[in-house]
Amino acid sequence: MNQELLVAGGGIGGLAAALAARRAGWEARVLEQAPAFSEFGAGIQLGPNVVRILREWGLLAGELQQQAYMPQCLRVRDGVDGGELAMLPLAGMEERYGAPYLTVHRNDLHVALLDAVRAGGVRLHTGRRVAHLAEQPDAVRVKAAGGPDVEAEAVVLADGLWSEVRSVVAPDGAPHRTGHLAYRGLVWQADLPPPLRSREVTVWLAPRMHLVTYPVRGGDVLNTVCLVEGEVRGDPRSWNQLAVRSELDAALGPVCTGVREHLAAVPEWRLWALHDRAPVASAEWLARGRVALLGDAAHPMLPYLAQGAGMAIEDARELQRVLAVADDRIVDVPTAFRRYALNRWQRVARVQARSRRNATIFHADGPLRVSRNVALRTLGGRLLDQPWLYGGK
Ligand SMILES: Cc1cc2nc3c(=O)[nH]c(=O)nc-3n(C[C@H](O)[C@H](O)[C@H](O)COP(=O)(O)OP(=O)(O)OC[C@H]3O[C@@H](n4cnc5c(N)ncnc54)[C@H](O)[C@@H]3O)c2cc1C
Repeated sequence: MNQELLVAGGGIGGLAAALAARRAGWEARVLEQAPAFSEFGAGIQLGPNVVRILREWGLLAGELQQQAYMPQCLRVRDGVDGGELAMLPLAGMEERYGAPYLTVHRNDLHVALLDAVRAGGVRLHTGRRVAHLAEQPDAVRVKAAGGPDVEAEAVVLADGLWSEVRSVVAPDGAPHRTGHLAYRGLVWQADLPPPLRSREVTVWLAPRMHLVTYPVRGGDVLNTVCLVEGEVRGDPRSWNQLAVRSELDAALGPVCTGVREHLAAVPEWRLWALHDRAPVASAEWLARGRVALLGDAAHPMLPYLAQGAGMAIEDARELQRVLAVADDRIVDVPTAFRRYALNRWQRVARVQARSRRNATIFHADGPLRVSRNVALRTLGGRLLDQPWLYGGK
């Protein structure tokens, strides 16, 4: 039998890792703590660096092709006066970076990955919470609730932001609160007044908040995310708290009518309290021996560069590359995982750091806001394009 990769967590990152392992010729098994594989939440943006991988994996040939949306442009507005600051046409992405810029509902992407891993023969187990790992000379023994211990030649921890078992690789404690809250909602475009319907990614920047809207579900639904600064009561681990609209209103500063109209149009809001870790500081923080970290378990990031899931998918693609040559004879698993870590840590650290920097720029007030607006008006789309990111590596 081939060597097996065991993946803890069946979110976008975990399923991508399992698919990558199969494509590298490994067996793969996923242990997911929840009673079913599912994704809630709303939309995500996928840059060309990510879409290239999904396309290579054949995921854009099926239903996802209809569900994903190709926005016309990325437009940035001042959220106080509503004026346009900059615009980047997205039609040129395919030519520049070899793949389009897409927006999708998270669940549509998750289902496409789930179908692909099922078709690839990945063994999928729900109701199994990974609790403990013990490394042996040629394998890792994994204890997980709801069933017997499992042994595999390699383990990937893709169990998300709140991963506790990640401490076997990166013992840096719990993620910290950022004081930023994300309100997310979906609205049918047909239910919106015509001026609010949209075919683009629009970002409004205002002091201590920003709003992003873009179409998902083939363009039929407008995804709306409003990020404000504040704290929440209750369990911060909840990814899906029903939000109170008046609390969102209270967190807004002096925003323009366009922003208020978009917020008023969303029938129901869900709230996420954003947590973060310091950017990855060295390759040692991504892998140790036969255990590697991937996705939010490795490098959670603020959504201000829209690349958290994208970096998880890039991690998985790199995993595919190193596993393809790991035969435990010439290249053993610890060496392969060391290469994975060396090849990924600087890139993910850079994306984490840029996401943090964007938080300051997006929510700026006073002189920083004025200079940001001048720069955006002067440089326009050139400031919005990210060749270092979309071009890969
Ligand atoms: C407001 C907001 C907007 C965003 N927008 C974008 C965007 O536009 N583009 C983008 O690329 N990213 C975006 N992201 C980031 C993206 O959502 C995450 O980076 C991504 O979902 C992480 O995937 P993951 O699989 O690593 O973790 P998760 O999605 O958290 O999955 C972890 C899985 O592991 C399971 N699990 C947890 N513990 C255990 C355990 N002990 N044993 C077994 N299973 C376990 C969980 O149940 C879950 O299924 C956004 C995030 C937010 C909050």
